[in-house]
Amino acid sequence: MRVLEHEPLAGHGYWRVGGPLERLVLVDSVEELLALPHIDHVLGNGSNLLVPDEGLPGVTVKLVGELRNLTVEGDVGRDVLVRVGAGMLNAVVLARLDKLGLGGLGCLAGVPGTVGGAVAMNAGTALGEIAERLVAVEGLDGREWRRIDRTSLPMAYREGGLPRGFVAVAALLRATRVGVDEERARVGEHLSRRKATQPLDFPSCGSVFRNPPGNHAGQLIERVGLKGWRHGGAEISALHANFIVNRGGASAKDVMTCIHTAWSRVKAETGVALVPEVHVLGAWPAALWPLSG
Ligand SMILES: Cc1cc2nc3c(=O)[nH]c(=O)nc-3n(C[C@H](O)[C@H](O)[C@H](O)COP(=O)(O)OP(=O)(O)OC[C@H]3O[C@@H](n4cnc5c(N)ncnc54)[C@H](O)[C@@H]3O)c2cc1C
Repeated sequence: MRVLEHEPLAGHGYWRVGGPLERLVLVDSVEELLALPHIDHVLGNGSNLLVPDEGLPGVTVKLVGELRNLTVEGDVGRDVLVRVGAGMLNAVVLARLDKLGLGGLGCLAGVPGTVGGAVAMNAGTALGEIAERLVAVEGLDGREWRRIDRTSLPMAYREGGLPRGFVAVAALLRATRVGVDEERARVGEHLSRRKATQPLDFPSCGSVFRNPPGNHAGQLIERVGLKGWRHGGAEISALHANFIVNRGGASAKDVMTCIHTAWSRVKAETGVALVPEVHVLGAWPAALWPLSG
């Protein structure tokens, strides 16, 4: 276990913004996790997280070491059950499965987070979402070790449905030996499409808002004239208006100002109250982040 005091989120998060995490504990095993007196926050790969420039008090854990393992548990009908440590990056999971001749999790291709983050957010793409392949999640619910079956999780579009404060430690996922080559081809096309339509050359956190039913958040933001709008070093991307990019030297406040401006302008001009996809932690001025709480 390693404890980093006042570790800037900017060094971990995808936006490259955010102040110091008061205590960041890098946890290598379940035993170490169980030994912690309390946990306030979990950091995955920081690819969907915004923390104020002033920082985040309390204990934040990051799962490393043994909590990034993948093991094959065995065949279940046409599928293969795999247990994946929640700290493992999706990209590593996909590469490991590919080596084993397995597929089934192509929906996570291009999602730059961890498996824990994917379960917490019900991450997904045009190719599906993790909810479709999740059998169960194991982890800490308060001080209790708990396994929650997928059928008991109220998962929805970009909502993992985990109990508040639950630390996902491992996910049981259904991989498959069927249709692996076809899936690889679909993933290739999907990644090329993303490269052409998303501002992947600048730090971002992917889509900032969920798409409202029957609509696209990016199109609504574009419709109110904010595509390309900048505040400080942050920009509502000129390529894809549901992305906010750090064009260099942005602060967390710059990013939040873009989020707040997009949210309020869309609400005022179209009546649609966009729902943020990005997870916002810490204390923000109410005028800037009235959506918290
Ligand atoms: C370029 C880019 C493209 C993206 N494209 C997509 C996409 O296509 N689809 C999509 O769904 N997302 C996308 N995202 C967003 C992001 O990658 C996903 O939401 C991802 O699942 C977040 O995982 P993470 O490990 O980075 O989590 P973090 O950003 O570190 O955390 C996000 C939330 O999950 C919680 N969390 C993380 N790990 C755990 C755990 N072990 N137990 C409990 N809670 C946990 C955190 O506490 C936090 O509340 C994109 C992001 C970027 C930067």
